[in-house]
Amino acid sequence: NALQDPPYLAGLNAPQRDAVLTTEGPVLMLAGAGTGKTAALTARLAHLLWTRKAWPSEILSVTFTNKAAREMRERVGRLVGDAVEGMPWLGTFHAIGAKMLRRHAELVGLQSNFSILDTDDQLRLLKQLIVAADLDEKRFPARSLAGLIDDWKNKGLVPADIDAGESERFANGRGGELYAQYQERLRSLNACDFGDLLLHMLTVLKSHPDVLRTYQERFKYIMVDEYQDTNVVQYLWLRLLAQARKNIACVGDDDQSIYSWRGAQVENILKFEKDFPGAKVIRLEQNYRSTPHILGAASGMIANNGGRLGKTLWTELDAGEKVRVVGVWDGPEEARRVGEEIEAAQRGGKSLDDIAILVRAQHQTREFEDRFIAIGMPYRIVGGFRFYERAEIRDALAYLRVVNQPADDLAFERIVNVPKRGLGDKALAKIHQLARAERLPLTHAAARILDTDELTPQARRALGNLVGDIARWRDMARDLPHAELARQLLDESGYTAMWQAEKSVEAAGRLENLSELVRAMEEYESLGAFLEHVSLVMDKEGGVQDPQVTIMTIHAAKGLEYDTVFLVGWEEGLFPSQRSLDEGGTKSLEEERRLAYVAITRARRRATILHAANRRIYGQWTSSIPSRFVGELPGDHIDAETTMSGGESLWRANWSERADPFADVGRGTGRGPGWQRAAGAASGFSTAPTRVVESRASAVSIGNKGRSDLSVGLRV
Ligand code: ATP
Ligand code: MG
Repeated sequence: NALQDPPYLAGLNAPQRDAVLTTEGPVLMLAGAGTGKTAALTARLAHLLWTRKAWPSEILSVTFTNKAAREMRERVGRLVGDAVEGMPWLGTFHAIGAKMLRRHAELVGLQSNFSILDTDDQLRLLKQLIVAADLDEKRFPARSLAGLIDDWKNKGLVPADIDAGESERFANGRGGELYAQYQERLRSLNACDFGDLLLHMLTVLKSHPDVLRTYQERFKYIMVDEYQDTNVVQYLWLRLLAQARKNIACVGDDDQSIYSWRGAQVENILKFEKDFPGAKVIRLEQNYRSTPHILGAASGMIANNGGRLGKTLWTELDAGEKVRVVGVWDGPEEARRVGEEIEAAQRGGKSLDDIAILVRAQHQTREFEDRFIAIGMPYRIVGGFRFYERAEIRDALAYLRVVNQPADDLAFERIVNVPKRGLGDKALAKIHQLARAERLPLTHAAARILDTDELTPQARRALGNLVGDIARWRDMARDLPHAELARQLLDESGYTAMWQAEKSVEAAGRLENLSELVRAMEEYESLGAFLEHVSLVMDKEGGVQDPQVTIMTIHAAKGLEYDTVFLVGWEEGLFPSQRSLDEGGTKSLEEERRLAYVAITRARRRATILHAANRRIYGQWTSSIPSRFVGELPGDHIDAETTMSGGESLWRANWSERADPFADVGRGTGRGPGWQRAAGAASGFSTAPTRVVESRASAVSIGNKGRSDLSVGLRV
């Protein structure tokens, strides 16, 4: 009876209610994007509190981001009043892990006031250990070891678990030994890193049954959002905590698993029913977020992935607009076009807060930021820094500023020991002293101090090299195009090499940002003009209260939704990323496709996909071809448009006549090896296998590759 329904049940559909009201026993909510999983989980939390089944402190709720935790807290607060005041166990795995560990720190040899190291501290520590182990830090960089240790921690492995094979992954088998030393060192510093927050707690729960029992009794209910992206240590930790009462509700979508590169295991979904026999599996099929066309486009594309659990999705919303696919000439035109469309949407009454631009890689934000600044369009970057504020960009700019302007002391200070060249605080203090005494800029003082015996021989040599380099770069600046200068400077200074030595995904992103910086420079007449532009850009502080367009990566957009979404750079080598293509195999490609699925399904009413025919890479214009994902969008759900004459026929040719998996479509892209069509993938956008939107209330199933018993369909 609707009149007697508590507020949190209002409007929920039957399976959602089921998920809310099934409080006892294991529940797995497995459903596609926008079907109200998070909404149901939030209502479930409200229900538990409303009915007094549990106190706020007796419910463990895990969200994927702090933002999601905040939103859930607010929503539950609105639903049940201030009962949520203290929801101490609502948060991310890290936040909850840290809180627990503080209570039991002594059980793993820490004190409760332990500090949590940031990446810089962690690297410094690892480097010391590598050097102490008589290893060459250049050949065996601390960053690689950090990545490896993180991987082990994500898998729930403590040093004792590292066998010879695993150990082999660093410095010819010394990985395990260094891992053990690192943990020892952390302990003596009363510190831990992010990975330890869960790993230590897992150790505690495993080795102290009394502690485990306390938590098992305390947490009457456990809930987990975005379950498909949990990694092994998180999974083991949850399983232990839930094992006694078995009141655990997890929600997820196998099609949205996008963090395997950080150790997430989508298999955790499959294990759930095994670990918790008799689990109630609830499927939500009605999508409340997106129009049929958006849903149809996304479903048709993801059907190209193999081994899916499969699901049916339908919506009652009006058909709405088709997903637009827009081909433009080049990157600048892409940014211009998006800017114009946003202005038009604004004139049509849309708020900028309802509009998002989703990029595959961080470096792609630059083109849009520059454009938006030029036209005065307020924007925010979510889950990252604005392009020119990123550390690697600031470093590179500092080098350029020193070359451009010898008196730029701040820039000199920033780069004097980056990359590390043995110029410590002492040497810098000496330079400062001289600069003050003689009223010289730091660069001049640095040159002057070389004539004295103030510095240690080692520092003197290092400084001599740097001073010589800067002088040489200044000479080069006279004749060399400034972008070329930047390129050489970044190489010769060892700055690029510093990031290359680190083989992490993060470092690869930084290198991409550096290339993007050089690319951006080409658009300016001189180095001075470029630096001027940057300082104006950096000065710009978007008003926090005013509506702003959101720019972010697809990874950061998980779980969010926007009325209007622009999906940019859908080109081979950009999306799917070159890295995923280089790796070959279907695994990384399928993860890219899931990312594309997440991207499209963020849109409520309007999705526009853009691809450019040309991108400038290292000063060279290279032609690019539209992403295969564009080709996989069912023709019925898209409107294609191109601003280039002949462009669309080229695009059709690329995607409908290339059934031969070995056809060389990557002609002239200059971006590494050509790609292959995934076997069994849809054969071109015009013949893609989804036919949805036929008539209202008729269900259409879309065959799912390799799993004919399951269906992915869309009912309109
Ligand atoms: P994702 O997989 O992207 O995380 P989700 O399954 O968590 O999506 P939600 O974010 O919970 O989906 O819901 C999507 C949208 O649908 C939200 O705007 C939400 O308010 C709305 N919604 C959810 N359930 C209902 C319902 N029963 N009636 C109307 N709207 C609903
Ligand atoms: Mg969600």
